[in-house]
Amino acid sequence: MLQNVRVPYYDKWRKIKMLSVDEARQRMLNTIPVLSTEKRGILNCAGYVLAEAVSAPEHIPPFDNSAMDGFAVRAVDVKAATEENPTVLSVVETIAAGHAPTKQVLSGQAARIMTGAMMPEGADAVVMQEVTELFSRDSVKIFENVSENQNVRFAGESVKAGEEVMPPGKLLRAPEISMLASLNCAEVIVHRKPTVAIVSTGDELTPLGERLEPGKIRDSNRYGLYAQVEEAGGVPIDMGIAPDDEAETERIFRDALAKADALITSGGVSVGEHDVVKSVLAKLGEINFWRVAMKPGKPQAYGIADGKPIFGLPGNPVSSLVVFELFVRPALLKMAGHTHLLRPTFKAVLAESVKNRDGRVNYMRAILTEQDGHYTAKTTGPQGSGILHSLVLANGLITIPAGAKLAAGATVDAQFLD
Ligand code: AMP
Ligand code: MG
Repeated sequence: MLQNVRVPYYDKWRKIKMLSVDEARQRMLNTIPVLSTEKRGILNCAGYVLAEAVSAPEHIPPFDNSAMDGFAVRAVDVKAATEENPTVLSVVETIAAGHAPTKQVLSGQAARIMTGAMMPEGADAVVMQEVTELFSRDSVKIFENVSENQNVRFAGESVKAGEEVMPPGKLLRAPEISMLASLNCAEVIVHRKPTVAIVSTGDELTPLGERLEPGKIRDSNRYGLYAQVEEAGGVPIDMGIAPDDEAETERIFRDALAKADALITSGGVSVGEHDVVKSVLAKLGEINFWRVAMKPGKPQAYGIADGKPIFGLPGNPVSSLVVFELFVRPALLKMAGHTHLLRPTFKAVLAESVKNRDGRVNYMRAILTEQDGHYTAKTTGPQGSGILHSLVLANGLITIPAGAKLAAGATVDAQFLD
């Protein structure tokens, strides 16, 4: 009797092949398009990814200059200088930053020089001001020797003219933008940031601020996904909640897809589910419904419609966040032009014993702490896929293989969540 009840669902479920995380992710990533490019001014390019390499049109620095406030000298002249027996040189001029020297430094001479000022001809080192003493109007005592080239920054020592400074795929952060300015590069060609429409699905969902009627819950996924899209460098578009009604869901999904480069939906993709979300997703484009051998987050839907990726995430709050992290984040990074898509993984030692009775890999929420280059992992309590709190307490995920019984001290793969 029990079997008769189970059979229809079971058959339907079995037809969907179970994929490993790596397999599913690779299949999905292979289909993800890289977005088109645009020209942006460097005051508006932070967080974008370079689409074309940037090369140096000129040397940086452009000329030999002083790394110190002090005196430009010929090193050989001050070889014997000591505190007791200073060398005396005559000062021919003062060279301030931004001004070219007008005189050569000959034997027995020095030029007072400021940090960043151009080295005068003849001089090959700078004695720092702290070990000198100006006396009379134009003489200086040097109390310490310097070696040749000391305290001199050479033309092209940072970057040589013609050298490639940044490859395509480089994320533009403050150092890159500062570098672009130093290269006289006012505009760059970058990939567009993906705009990502986010829709929650389910009759049980209640927006914030409204009274919770019996049987209803708060819609939390939309807010979490919104933040995740932003953190991944995308531009989220909030499309609200779709009720479990086919026509309305289709209207909202189509509207969302028209407004964005990608669509994320949460809920409604497991078997045994009210079939609204799945049948609408299937209408939009080439959508695959996958069982991925992971916990949380087994049911997922992926596809492309009009060249735009669609991600059908599971509804359980932890599943939604974890599947975004493992699948959607790398996809959005690829769209934005990144070449490194996955977060680094590393080994961590379990601080407690951990069991995974399931036939799927379990991504457990954990606190990862580092000491002397070694990581320790401690889980953050109940790991049910609806228990958001244990994700709030976590700074990373650890991977417990299917069926594994691990004792404290065992080593697992780990990754940070930020
Ligand atoms: P579903 O995948 O639609 O079957 O949903 C699985 C579980 O996640 C159910 O308990 C839903 O109520 C819950 N859920 C679905 N969507 C959301 C959401 N946006 N926010 C919070 N919980 C949700
Ligand atoms: Mg639902």
